[in-house]
Amino acid sequence: MSAESTATTSFGHVIDGEERGSLGNEHFASVDPWTREPWADVALGGAAEADLAVAAARRAFDEGPWPRMGLAERGALLHRLADLVESHADELARAESRDMGKPVADARDKDVPRTALNFRFFADHARLVTAETYPMDSGHHAYSRYEPVGVVAAIAPWNFPLMLESWKVAPALAWGNTVVLKPAEDTPATATILARLAVEAGLPPGVFNVVHGYGPGSAGEALTTDARVDRITFTGESGTGRAIAGAAARHLTPVSLELGGKGANLVFADADLDDAVDWSIKAIFSNAGQVCLAGSRLFVERPVLEEFTARFVAAAEALRVGDPAQESTQVGPLASQEHWRKVTGFLDEPGGKVLTGGRGDGWVVRPTVIVDAPLDARVHREEIFGPVVTVTPFDTEDEAVRLANDSPFGLNAMLFTENLSRAHRVSAALRAGTVWTNCFFVRDLRAPFGGVGDSGWGREGGTFSREFFTEPKACVMAV
Ligand code: NAD
Repeated sequence: MSAESTATTSFGHVIDGEERGSLGNEHFASVDPWTREPWADVALGGAAEADLAVAAARRAFDEGPWPRMGLAERGALLHRLADLVESHADELARAESRDMGKPVADARDKDVPRTALNFRFFADHARLVTAETYPMDSGHHAYSRYEPVGVVAAIAPWNFPLMLESWKVAPALAWGNTVVLKPAEDTPATATILARLAVEAGLPPGVFNVVHGYGPGSAGEALTTDARVDRITFTGESGTGRAIAGAAARHLTPVSLELGGKGANLVFADADLDDAVDWSIKAIFSNAGQVCLAGSRLFVERPVLEEFTARFVAAAEALRVGDPAQESTQVGPLASQEHWRKVTGFLDEPGGKVLTGGRGDGWVVRPTVIVDAPLDARVHREEIFGPVVTVTPFDTEDEAVRLANDSPFGLNAMLFTENLSRAHRVSAALRAGTVWTNCFFVRDLRAPFGGVGDSGWGREGGTFSREFFTEPKACVMAV
């Protein structure tokens, strides 16, 4: 991105409770993917700004009130932040939409409420969850304590910026840690707004810091190699996850990695086809397919292949594609020119027959359905992260499971069937962190979330987040 822009809105780092520019006054432009014009100036941080932010978080943890506060008091501040998120829903949604082209209605009606829920849920969960006690045969009494770890570095992607940032920041804060968040360079705006709201909610200075910048050789890498950071929570590409795991090894900093996906979606012949079509459309074309959990490999049992494909293509063609600022838009442009080039690169060598879709105006890719692609084609193997799906037939349940599991990724899978026994059998056999039957994207925040293989390390959600963002300690008492 160019450092020059005509944008008038600006977003700074938020360090120690103050919004500020970079030490060398460097900045970069955030480009609106629909207008393809810069819309905001953003402070460009590097190692020096990351250093300041980590120092502030360290001070706030070592000397400040946050880790020493009771859970109820901390929780009340996080609830206040959730209230402010809701009362700024329009501002947050517009900023997110301009940063990455997400339909503004999706940002306002789905991502912002979920962000508020994340803060409320983790505040309440930390307060209400019980710790274990172990009455011992010897008469000793053991129990566990879950203590904050210290400074958490959170590094986030651009596809659900605010919502995924809150998924990391909320549990880290609820358990008494301090945080330095580095949002993706394509979507900086809502992180700064969130940090402004955190100051307004009354979080003490240094508890929640935001530093903007890039990954390698920039603020991101600096956070992953800093010995004062106690945990790194990362969501992004599998290749970046490998780089971060390598960097974190230097200080043995524990890392949580939520990485890429290539979700399989199995439609059995006994499925309710209305439901299967509806969910399968949402699973691949929501957020213009820029969803780690996207159902990008559709496998359909042969007896319903023709009917399902015809209805699926018709539904894909009926989606309203266009200006994300319009309330009715369902599919906006891709998030950046770089990403648009990557996705259209797949369309240049589809490996099969394109039934519908292809390039739209500007950085738009229309909902695209590919059939007859060989199983070793790139469109089948690699994460496209766009509105592009392959449809492949299968003949038996065993074959469906084999096809689904034939991927280095293992984030999630879906199946559509009216046969309950099959639903349990196939759910057990699929190699994935989450399996949905007859639905998609439904989450209980207490349930484990994460992936297998190239989709990541570890799980977050409920007690799984507690394990990562605390140091569990065993205390043993003699009688
Ligand atoms: P990315 O890996 O390019 O970037 C993610 C973040 O990492 C950005 O903030 C970036 O600046 C930073 N970064 C890049 N290199 C770094 C380095 N060497 N050190 C430190 N930080 C570095 O990912 P993206 O393109 O922003 O996001 C899309 C990817 O995220 C897709 O692969 C998608 O599947 C994945 N994703 C996964 C989940 C999940 O929960 N598993 C959720 C959303 C997105």
